[in-house]
Amino acid sequence: MSRRALRLTLALVILLGLALVIWPATRIARDQALERLQEEADDELRLSVAGLRGHLSRHEYLPQLLASREPVQRFLGAPEAHRAQAINELLDGFRAIAEVSDVYLLDRHADTLAASNWHRPDTFIGQNYTFRSYYQDAIAGREGRFYGLGVQSRERGYYFSAPVWLPGDETGPAGVMVVKVLLDAQESAWTEQQAELLVVDGQGIVFMASEPALRLAALHPLSATERRRLLATRRYADEPLPPSGLRRLEPRGEHGDLVTFDRGPLGGQAFLRQVSPVAELGWEMHILKPLTPVQAAQWQAALLAGGLYGILVLGAGVGWQRQRLRRQREHFAERERQTLARARDELERNVARRTHDLVETNRRLSDEIEERKRAEATLRQTQNELIQAAKLAMLGQLAAGINHELNQPLAAVRSYAENARAFLARQQAERADANLAEIVELTGRMAEISAQLKQFSRKSGEQLTSVSMSDCFGYALRLYRARLDQDGVTVERRWPEAPVWVRADLVRLEQVLVNLIGNALQAMAQTPSPRLILGIDTQDDEVRIEVADNGPGIPAANLSRIFEPFFTTKSLGTGLGLGLSISSRIIADLGGRLQAETLPEGGARFTIRLPRDRSPEPPESHAPQE
Ligand code: ADP
Repeated sequence: MSRRALRLTLALVILLGLALVIWPATRIARDQALERLQEEADDELRLSVAGLRGHLSRHEYLPQLLASREPVQRFLGAPEAHRAQAINELLDGFRAIAEVSDVYLLDRHADTLAASNWHRPDTFIGQNYTFRSYYQDAIAGREGRFYGLGVQSRERGYYFSAPVWLPGDETGPAGVMVVKVLLDAQESAWTEQQAELLVVDGQGIVFMASEPALRLAALHPLSATERRRLLATRRYADEPLPPSGLRRLEPRGEHGDLVTFDRGPLGGQAFLRQVSPVAELGWEMHILKPLTPVQAAQWQAALLAGGLYGILVLGAGVGWQRQRLRRQREHFAERERQTLARARDELERNVARRTHDLVETNRRLSDEIEERKRAEATLRQTQNELIQAAKLAMLGQLAAGINHELNQPLAAVRSYAENARAFLARQQAERADANLAEIVELTGRMAEISAQLKQFSRKSGEQLTSVSMSDCFGYALRLYRARLDQDGVTVERRWPEAPVWVRADLVRLEQVLVNLIGNALQAMAQTPSPRLILGIDTQDDEVRIEVADNGPGIPAANLSRIFEPFFTTKSLGTGLGLGLSISSRIIADLGGRLQAETLPEGGARFTIRLPRDRSPEPPESHAPQE
């Protein structure tokens, strides 16, 4: 089904529901309102009936009262002997007091002898009323009652009659006393009521009515026979007695129904009619209550039911909307959950991937570290081997000097020995001993040189100890003592009295100093008055060690390269180009720096910076001393 058709069906269903709700509500409201109206009508009707009864019964005793009056009886006993005028006036006086329309006296033949309206042109006096039932009843000795139109006055009246008995006359009533009561006052009292009131006689003629147009109308159309019979009674003279136009719509209870009028001033209006018999008068009293309150109640009920239904439908609509919104929200939430779950899965996959990558990288790094460690170890080994090689090179360099150093004392020892033998042969023991003493001193010196060579070739133990810098210089210089003397080098020692300590591997540090001093000596080979300056200086926690010379210095272009391995300016056989590179490496290993510069006044200066050792351990005895 399309959305449009669905909407149309829904609207139709809602409308049908509205009709289904309003219909019974109005029915119930109508029934209830009608019931209320019926009760109201009953009450009003009862009151009106009582009022009418009261109004009439007030006068019913009057004829009898007047009939018993002595002047009346006397007059009736011999009318020709008495003055009728006195009775006329008596009756008129009564009429005024009792507030009735007319009072009149008939003789036994129904001729009017006296009347309260004696002074009016249409006076009853002289009129004969044999045809009236009130006369017939009274002359028969009963009290009479009658209603109908006055013959003279054409007014609707209610008649009460009573026989006039003459004292001692047993033949029958001598006359009839009649009192006529008008009903207009009663009717005009009804007009104030919120209802129409009708008094209908046994023949269905509306005798009294709050609505003037209905007076003397036939409640239901009369048949020709009925009309003829009515005319014979002369009750309503020759009045046309038109039909009232009343039509029953719907019976309601025992005494009621809903009616309307086809014509007349009440035409088209609907009424609730309640009927109550007024048995003693032979009448029925009808009350017609307009249905306005019923219609109002119906409207009210319809509006109320419609309103409630509207609220209900609205509520249902709102509920439905909320339900729909909730479903939509849930739908969205579900989708969001799914999206989130997807994103989470994706994230987890990414994390897993990244973790895998990281693990891989980590593994690679670990491998690299291992590799590096291996390389480092290899490097260290190579370095050590290089140091060893440098030492050997240095040894090679030293070899000539050593050769000289050893050959010279050896030659001396030889000649001293030869001299000693000659002196011993000549028995000159003292002189032989002096020569032998020279030999002893020379061999001591040779032993010292050999010890230094042994130390130089020794490998480092890599153990850091507290090293006194001045001592370290001392050991290094000792190696070059012969050469320094031979080359006539002035050595300037610039260091304080108190020892300056650094934490180092003595052998390697000494080797650095040997390298630097060796380079300086080589550089100053052509210098006229060579000068070697050795300095130790402290600054805060740093120790500065200087080795300077007054040689040619280092050309600026070479300054940046001299620490490179195998960089050398020396001829083959004299330099390997390893000394400075190894030295700078050793100093770096000890946590320091080695720098070179050319001095402004000429010559080169090498500066070592090392951390100062403030709490030195007692130094071990130095190997070369052993
Ligand atoms: P080698 O001494 O075997 O050449 P080094 O690494 O010890 O190797 O020295 C490298 C170079 O630095 C030398 O060849 C030399 O040119 C220069 N050099 C080193 N010390 C000095 C110095 N005191 N004066 C001038 N040049 C020097």
